[in-house]
Amino acid sequence: MTQDWRDSVELTEQQSLVRRSVRDLCAEFGNEYWRERDRTATYPTEFVDALAADGWLGMLVPEEYGGVGMSTSEAVVMMEEIAASGGGFAGPQSIHGGIYNSVPIVKYADEGLKADLLPRVADGEARIQAFGLTEPNAGSDSTAMETRAERDGDEYVVNGEKVWISRVEDSDYLLLMARTTPRDEVDKRTRGISMILVDLEEAYGNGLEIERIPKTASRAVHSYQLYFDDLRVPARNLIGEEGEGFYQVLDGLNEERLVIAAECLGLGEVALERGIEYANEREVFGGPIGANQAIQHPLAEAYADLLAAKKVIYSAADRLDDLERTAAGAEANVAKYLAAEAAFEAADAAVQTHGGFGVAREYDVERYFREARLTRLVPVTQQLALNYLGERVLGLPRSY
Ligand SMILES: Cc1cc2nc3c(=O)[nH]c(=O)nc-3n(C[C@H](O)[C@H](O)[C@H](O)COP(=O)(O)OP(=O)(O)OC[C@H]3O[C@@H](n4cnc5c(N)ncnc54)[C@H](O)[C@@H]3O)c2cc1C
Repeated sequence: MTQDWRDSVELTEQQSLVRRSVRDLCAEFGNEYWRERDRTATYPTEFVDALAADGWLGMLVPEEYGGVGMSTSEAVVMMEEIAASGGGFAGPQSIHGGIYNSVPIVKYADEGLKADLLPRVADGEARIQAFGLTEPNAGSDSTAMETRAERDGDEYVVNGEKVWISRVEDSDYLLLMARTTPRDEVDKRTRGISMILVDLEEAYGNGLEIERIPKTASRAVHSYQLYFDDLRVPARNLIGEEGEGFYQVLDGLNEERLVIAAECLGLGEVALERGIEYANEREVFGGPIGANQAIQHPLAEAYADLLAAKKVIYSAADRLDDLERTAAGAEANVAKYLAAEAAFEAADAAVQTHGGFGVAREYDVERYFREARLTRLVPVTQQLALNYLGERVLGLPRSY
């Protein structure tokens, strides 16, 4: 198997090291492993435990708290590799929260909480895999959220409902976004929202019920509906400032969006790779199907679009800290938009290249196709990424 066409950006020494280590670890979990996780809708526990054992869940935790102290530049490499190794979107998604939810804790939690939690996150013992923002009536319009966290002495009392919250059963903590001030009592809808850490073990049966949502894409990583009924959470679990939680989320959004883009990129790369393999192997009318330009060109187009996405992702990951806010947002949204489109194009071309076998589970490309479709929806839809570019970069009027 040649992956030379994937080596299109120059990596730093640190990035190369990440790539080699993650590639070696992923080699233990091949196509069959991921195919089976998807078929049986089973979380990849062995894979996540192996990453945790090597300290990867603490990659963004600073060294002073026992973590690896790396940054987005390395996270994009890691996530691209996991997806491209055969994990598809489910691979990086199985640990996405575990890595990224530590970021607001590092930036905003008080010292006591950080000292208690972060070393346990770094060694894989405590997992903060779940992030609860979306509600049945608040998806793209997330500030329409209605879930309330009302202060009562030294506790918050949480009531409401969340939907599509991923990895809840595979997590020890939920980073919950809830309104501490109702929307009609704040001057801006982005205010009055707070970030609260919920210990899931303590919450189950004490005001939190969960229900798994059956779905068709990335079946190995589950999402849940959450029902809060007078759940009491210690007020010391407030992360950052009360009422400012939405801004704390926005603060890390560009980094996270770039990493998602890298996950889409890796998914597109593995789909393309499988398409290329089959196009070389399969003979129809006495020759390899890859000689037909109707097969070859869609694969070449997918390569071109993946390469464009990759250049944007890696260059943005290097420069993000130096860019002013709108410029960083522009790069992150362009990266996510291009990468999800390129992943879809690659997976579609791979399915078409496989003919009828394109929908057979054993060739994996149908799984990649389902996942590539999902990347156009999450964590932000393509339209919302375009809204950002249209409004903030091009200066066009807002639709909402
Ligand atoms: C598998 C999966 C995992 C998820 N995991 C999590 C998680 O862990 N935590 C979490 O909080 N959330 C999670 N989500 C939720 C996800 O972030 C939302 O689904 C997403 O933000 C879209 O919201 P929505 O589904 O309510 O769509 P809606 O907001 O209802 O939008 C419906 C459609 O209308 C379009 N639309 C709406 N407004 C506009 C506009 N102004 N301009 C143009 N188009 C518009 C949207 O782009 C979309 O195509 C997950 C979702 C899925 C499917």
